Amino acid sequence: MTFAERMSRLGTETAFEVLQRARALEEQGRKIVHLEIGEPDFDTPRFIRQAAAEALEEGWTHYGPSAGLPEFRKLIAERWRAERGIPCGAENVVVTPGAKPIMFFIMLALLEAGDEVLYPNPGFSIYESVASFIGARAIPLPLLEEREFDLDLADLEKKINSRTKLVVLNSPHNPSGAVLKPETVEGIAKLARRHSFHILSDEIYAKIQYEGKHLSIASLPGMAERTTVLDGFSKTYAMTGWRLGFGIMEKTLATHVARLMTNSNSCTATFVQRAGMAALSGPQAEIEAMVAEFRVRRDLMVEGLNALPGITCFRPRGAFYVFPNIRKTGMKSAELATALLEQAGIACLSGHTFGAHGEGHLRFSYANSLDNLHTALQSLGEFLSVRAR
Ligand code: PLP
Repeated sequence: MTFAERMSRLGTETAFEVLQRARALEEQGRKIVHLEIGEPDFDTPRFIRQAAAEALEEGWTHYGPSAGLPEFRKLIAERWRAERGIPCGAENVVVTPGAKPIMFFIMLALLEAGDEVLYPNPGFSIYESVASFIGARAIPLPLLEEREFDLDLADLEKKINSRTKLVVLNSPHNPSGAVLKPETVEGIAKLARRHSFHILSDEIYAKIQYEGKHLSIASLPGMAERTTVLDGFSKTYAMTGWRLGFGIMEKTLATHVARLMTNSNSCTATFVQRAGMAALSGPQAEIEAMVAEFRVRRDLMVEGLNALPGITCFRPRGAFYVFPNIRKTGMKSAELATALLEQAGIACLSGHTFGAHGEGHLRFSYANSLDNLHTALQSLGEFLSVRAR
């Protein structure tokens, strides 16, 4: 069989591969602490599960409109307008099975072969993968630890040219947990207005921010029409397996993205959308409790890692990841990640899988119990002290 050339340009998300390797070790009887996969360890709140069960009983089992149920789009628009200050209505919202398809659809709708996409590096690997897959040029924007993983406006400005069509932002950031500084967001908006490029603002972790209020670039003057906000239910509501996300975008772009939905998925499962409506309308106390618990875990991880020889760890302000610097261990990221899995029973991700600028780091997801995090820190400490001898 021969495959289309474009398949050689499609990347992947390493977390799923490491998970598979970890599971294979577990089948051999090994104990592994899973800090590789980016999903809340909490169950979806009961009231959301109940709403889905009721929706199934009520007959929400048929096709729905490709862009999403009108009442759900309206509710999302109302909430994002009120909470994030994004001027939008139902016509700006497209609901998708998970937030990931929004990356695909926006790039398919906006980019010609040879157009340039500027994306965060280190960053979520799918931005670069999809941009390259569809024939665009993916240009990295280094997010460096010495700048607290904030975007360098001067570097961004230098990289903008007539082919620049899209700039991808992600705040709070996977893998570092950093939050873009407000002055950086303002600076990017200024450049977007001046040079007329589109922004894909991945705000999937916006409600998991421990300090300061989330600032959406789409809320700044003149930015809603040149920004697509990507968001969803996977992280905030512990609904990764449900596959429920959405984009908020300019309304003509929304009709194109809805057509891409018609051509690919037809629609997002209607009972899942009803559950999403319940999630937004119901009590948010459980969600606040999850975020408070993530914060305790963050503090444990940051303090625990900073106490270990050869490791320093930036204190993230959002998401549920830490991205410690491991250069002083003398090991490469991939080498250390493999050794930790095989010898210390810790599954984590090598920083380089988030792009070349992630080398020298590991990513630990702390979406795991405090007990397991204590175990992982202890095993890591033992592993490092044995190596130091
Ligand atoms: N954006 C970022 C930065 C992520 O880390 C993830 C998931 O890991 C997603 C988007 C995808 O979210 P979903 O599961 O809703 O497709």
